[in-house]
Amino acid sequence: MNISQITTTKELLKDSKNIAVIPHKNPDGDAMGSTLALVAYLNAKGHKAVVVAPNEYPHFLKWLPGHDDVLFYTSNTTNARDAIKTADLVFTLDFNHFSRVGDLEEALDNVKAPFIMIDHHQQPADYAAVTYSDTTMSSTCEMVYHFIKALGDEQLITADMASCLYTGIMTDTGSFRFSSTTATTHEVIAALIKKGANNDQIHQNIYDTNSESRLQLLGVALNNLVVLREYRTAFITMTQKELDDHNFQKGDTEGFVNYCLSLEGIIFAVIFIEHKADSIIKMSLRSKGEFSVNEFARAHYNGGGHTNAAGGRSEIALAETIANFKELLPSYKDQLSS
Ligand code: 5GP
Ligand code: MN
Repeated sequence: MNISQITTTKELLKDSKNIAVIPHKNPDGDAMGSTLALVAYLNAKGHKAVVVAPNEYPHFLKWLPGHDDVLFYTSNTTNARDAIKTADLVFTLDFNHFSRVGDLEEALDNVKAPFIMIDHHQQPADYAAVTYSDTTMSSTCEMVYHFIKALGDEQLITADMASCLYTGIMTDTGSFRFSSTTATTHEVIAALIKKGANNDQIHQNIYDTNSESRLQLLGVALNNLVVLREYRTAFITMTQKELDDHNFQKGDTEGFVNYCLSLEGIIFAVIFIEHKADSIIKMSLRSKGEFSVNEFARAHYNGGGHTNAAGGRSEIALAETIANFKELLPSYKDQLSS
C-alpha cells in the first residue's frame, strides 16, 4: 500500500461503518481466509462488518473461525442483498472484476458506497476508491496481513485471524511451493504462527479430511490422464456421470490438476470438468515457468487468473472442447516445446 492509499483507507474507516466484504464465486481458501480475517479485524475496530459470499464453499473450509456468520447470496438472498445495499463501504477481496461474483454482480453494480479492492490477480478493474492490487503477492491473505500492518494495527491480529490468513497463504501457494512464495511470504507465515495460527492443525483440516469417495474419484481422474509430450502438456477430464457415481461434493476435484504438473517434463496442465446443470465445461489451468495460462484462458475460455494458475469455461460439449483444445496447441508450440 502506498501512502495515499493508506490515508484514503483511514479516512474511509474513520467512523463506525456498516461494511460488506465480498469474496469471489466458488470461494477458495484464500478468498474465505482473507474475507473472514478482514471482517474480524474490522469488527475489532468497532465497525459492523459481514462476509457476503456469492455461493457455498467446500466442507474443508467450514472450520474457519467466523464461518458461521457468512451470508450466502444463494441461500440467504434477501439478507445478503440488504447487507450490500446498506453498506457504507464495500471491500472486494481476491478478485479483479465484478464478473467474478456470479449472480451477485448486479448487487455490486448498484452500490453507491465506495469500494476498497484487495487482490493479487492481473488486470484489476477500475471501480474502487482504493485499489490495493499487487500481482506479485502469493495470496490475498498475505495482502490482508500487509494491509492491517500498514494501518498500524498488527497488534489486533488474533489467533483466529492468524489461522484464517495462514490458511489462504497455504492454499494459494500449494503449501509454500509455488514461485509466488517469497521470503516475505515466509516472514508473514512466521508472524502468523507467533500470533497463534496452529499450522499443523490447519494442514490437517485442509488436506487430511478426504472422504473415500473423493479418493476414488481421484483414481478415476488419474485414469483419464492424457499426456501430450510434444507440447509438454497433460490434461484430465471428468464427466458429470463420473462425479455423480462418486457422490461429488463441492471441492472434491480441488488439486487434481496439479497431478498433471507432477509429471516430469510437463509444464502445462488442464482439468476439464463437465457441469451438466449449467451446460458448461469448467476448466482449471496450471503451468510452470513463463507460459501464461492467464493469457491462454483469457484468449480462448472467457477466463483468467494468474500466469501459472487460471480458470475458464467452455460452452460446448466435453468431446468437442477437448478436440478444440488439441487444435489450439500447435499455435503455442514455440512456447510449449522445449
Ligand atoms: P481454480 O482453477 O483453482 O478455480 O482457479 C485458479 C485461479 O484462476 C484463481 O486465482 C481464480 O481466481 C482464477 N479463476 C478461476 N476461474 C476463473 C474464471 O472463470 N475467470 C477468471 N477471470 N479467473 C478465474
Ligand atoms: Mn487468491
